[in-house]
Amino acid sequence: MTATIIDGKAIAAAVRAEIEAAVAARRARGLRQPGLAVVLVGDDPASDVYVRAKARQTVEVGMLSFEHRLPATATEQDILDLVARLNADEKVDGILVQLPLPPGIDAQRVLCAIVPDKDVDGFHPQNAGRLALGLPGFVPCTPLGCIRLLASVKTDLAGLHAVVVGRSNIVGKPMAQLLLAKDCTVTMAHSRTIALPEVCRQADILVAAVGRPEMIRGAWLKPGAIVLDVGINRLPPDAGTGKARLVGDVAFEEARRVAGAITPVPGGVGPMTIACLLQNTLTSAERQDRAA
Ligand code: NDP
Repeated sequence: MTATIIDGKAIAAAVRAEIEAAVAARRARGLRQPGLAVVLVGDDPASDVYVRAKARQTVEVGMLSFEHRLPATATEQDILDLVARLNADEKVDGILVQLPLPPGIDAQRVLCAIVPDKDVDGFHPQNAGRLALGLPGFVPCTPLGCIRLLASVKTDLAGLHAVVVGRSNIVGKPMAQLLLAKDCTVTMAHSRTIALPEVCRQADILVAAVGRPEMIRGAWLKPGAIVLDVGINRLPPDAGTGKARLVGDVAFEEARRVAGAITPVPGGVGPMTIACLLQNTLTSAERQDRAA
């Protein structure tokens, strides 16, 4: 068997095209452009790449991008003051504080300072609680992207056994909530799970969000399973090519011979995250319009 490769790049491009059309339609009706503010503290190179990509794609779909860069020496109060200004700014529909924040800054305190109505990352406790209760709110972008990718290969997920490996607040836990809302039977696995390969072999849907290169082997999969690989692991430069390589948490070449469908790394879950961030920003603008 050779798995269907789920093309996250193409699906993300389709989502961005839908958003671009919706933003153009808003403007044609005389409504304002949605705005996304991104806050970057310090000079982490990976974060810098993400922030640039977010700003570029925000502008490409016709939205306003506000980039705020603070030095690594910024105090927690400096960041809280900036968040307070963005909370009050009517041009800003979504606020994203790029993680990780420098040591010494209480990230949870900063995330809690964002008004839940502009929390397009879905990390505020109020939005996490809303997701758990099945109420409308903002859902974290990576799990939201995963659900969209799943929909591209299977529409009815009811009764399927989903195993989510990883229980972080930004990926694993919200992913499990979304799968539960789709009527899956959900198992959450983590570093203390006993007999992980056997647990994974029960999965009709396997979501890997661990951060360990190629940890999940082909032999751990149920034949025909749908595999979503969230992991982004940068391997040291290859001795032959001299190039660094990105791999997921799943051993792709082995897994594609067993799975029914699988996301590649790169080009799978990754591109969906920003597309869903833009989707959440558009949703926020629409909600603010209705509230006005
Ligand atoms: P965290 O480090 O916050 O969480 C990792 C989870 O994996 C934890 O729950 C941990 O368990 C579990 N884990 C660690 N080791 C094992 C093991 N040996 N067996 C089983 N479970 C294990 O990571 P994130 O959720 O933030 O990210 C996970 C991966 O996804 C990373 O590679 C990250 O780069 C990537 N990522 C990709 C995104 C995208 O846009 N595609 C967005 C966000 C993340 P425990 O809780 O017990 O410690």
